[in-house]
Amino acid sequence: MAIERTFSIIKPDAVAKNLIGSIYQRFETAGLKVVAAKMVQLDQAKAEGFYAEHSERPFFKALVDFMISGPVMVQVLEGENAILRHREIMGATNPAEALAGTLRADYADSIDENAVHGSDAAASAAREIEYFFSNEELCPRTR
Ligand code: UDP
Repeated sequence: MAIERTFSIIKPDAVAKNLIGSIYQRFETAGLKVVAAKMVQLDQAKAEGFYAEHSERPFFKALVDFMISGPVMVQVLEGENAILRHREIMGATNPAEALAGTLRADYADSIDENAVHGSDAAASAAREIEYFFSNEELCPRTR
């Protein structure tokens, strides 16, 4: 199975609830390794650019307002099948539909404020990692 990298955000709702450590624990327990991480306060342009594919959707403005409402943690996770594995750990977009034991089932309040983001495919993972991290910030975990 391929070793992949994926991009992850702990959104402002989950940061505000002091859930950073609990969420990192889920990643690490699942065998995903953090290869880059930082806290960021997004501004409007950065959030709009990140979610540009949703710019015509009715929830776009609310989504951007939510994403700039407080700091986020952004990280790159590495592991076997990391993109799909991370999406499984996150659970469905709508927490009401998320499987028990997933991050969104346990920590999200609504489809709008749903605790975490994760890349959905290899191409988006590459684009999203580059949107937030330079190559120098990606630390190989060879030890
Ligand atoms: N979103 C929302 N209302 C909706 C659908 C989506 O606020 O009706 C937000 C939600 O924060 C979601 C993000 O838009 O995580 C991106 O939506 P997408 O369908 O790409 O879901 P994801 O990949 O995050 O599961």
